[in-house]
Amino acid sequence: MLMPNFNYIKVKSLKEAIGQLSSKGARIHAGGTDLLGCLRDEIFGAEKLVSIGRLKALRGIRQTSDGGLRIGALTAIAEVENNKTVQERYSALAQAASEVGSPQLRNQGTIGGNLCQKPRCWYYRGEFQCLRKGGDTCYAYQGENQFHCIFGGNMCYIVHPSDTAPALVAFEAMTRVSGPDGARLVPIAKFHVPPSESVQKETILKPNEIVTEVLLPPPAKGLRSSYRKVRARRSWDFALASVALALQFDGDRIARARVVLGGAAPVPWRSKEVEEVITGRRLDAETVTRAAAAAVKNAQPLKQNGYKVPLFRGMIEEALAAIAHV
Ligand SMILES: Cc1cc2nc3c(=O)[nH]c(=O)nc-3n(C[C@H](O)[C@H](O)[C@H](O)COP(=O)(O)OP(=O)(O)OC[C@H]3O[C@@H](n4cnc5c(N)ncnc54)[C@H](O)[C@@H]3O)c2cc1C
Ligand code: SF4
Repeated sequence: MLMPNFNYIKVKSLKEAIGQLSSKGARIHAGGTDLLGCLRDEIFGAEKLVSIGRLKALRGIRQTSDGGLRIGALTAIAEVENNKTVQERYSALAQAASEVGSPQLRNQGTIGGNLCQKPRCWYYRGEFQCLRKGGDTCYAYQGENQFHCIFGGNMCYIVHPSDTAPALVAFEAMTRVSGPDGARLVPIAKFHVPPSESVQKETILKPNEIVTEVLLPPPAKGLRSSYRKVRARRSWDFALASVALALQFDGDRIARARVVLGGAAPVPWRSKEVEEVITGRRLDAETVTRAAAAAVKNAQPLKQNGYKVPLFRGMIEEALAAIAHV
């Protein structure tokens, strides 16, 4: 299929980017690994692409004065994966980055684009005018739904596709978002929009807003983290199921827990049920089994994705047992 025509503007400043995005039909082009496929397949259109690739201030990883980390939105996923500080202090994020697509995609794709990518539902990506594209039907609900959600479905049953987002939510990271009225900080836990709030929006961004950076808080004493992903194919693929853990240990007990599931819900899904079971406890065999059962007790599988319930139960059990013995 031929790519439809659009104007292409390479901006030299953030201000110019925001100005250019204020016209109708303008979209941000970062690495282009998701955007260009969407345009080629006519999932949505664009009258103008605003390339932010020259904005050097949006690249790179550096420590912040409070001991945390700042990752510019244009930083390549491969740089996040290979950065020593990320590997040592935020290992779940380095592991999640290493699970994104293929080496080529990780070199080209950016962390900002990873958070803002479009869902992978095959009806949405195909020629179906479903609810998310402004139609009046969810084709997946009655149709082919083996890769869809088991939590948080409401009119639309996508799963959130990003690998880095569950890890960032587990670390309680923030994004800085800039627009015509200035910049604001948004917790990544509140950045993605569930279908219960809007069935056509994936993020809280307004059309003329840009994610400029991701901010990680300093790791708490005793923090351990991990990210595990299961996919259908061994080569590149999106998560059938993934689990991000960020657990603060006090001796062998869990003082504070963040457990976030990917491939589970339309947004990165915090499992408060698991957090509740493990907080204040040692990760012994009984607690781990109870936590894994709690993880899926409120699951609402569709006709073809019931396999995700035992899959998540097993993954939680495995991930908790592994982190207890690091
Ligand atoms: C074959 C294939 C396999 C993939 N596998 C995975 C995978 O396993 N895991 C995974 O997480 N992802 C995967 N992806 C998705 C995607 O390539 C990556 O998430 C990548 O990080 C997207 O970044 P990008 O810079 O290329 O984004 P782009 O394609 O440039 O942009 C994606 C979207 O985000 C918007 N955007 C980009 N940057 C910003 C910004 N700073 N502020 C606001 N909006 C912005 C764009 O307008 C666009 O709508 C895969 C993609 C493909 C094609
Ligand atoms: S799950 Fe969402 S994106 Fe997929 S067909 Fe239904 S409404 Fe469309």
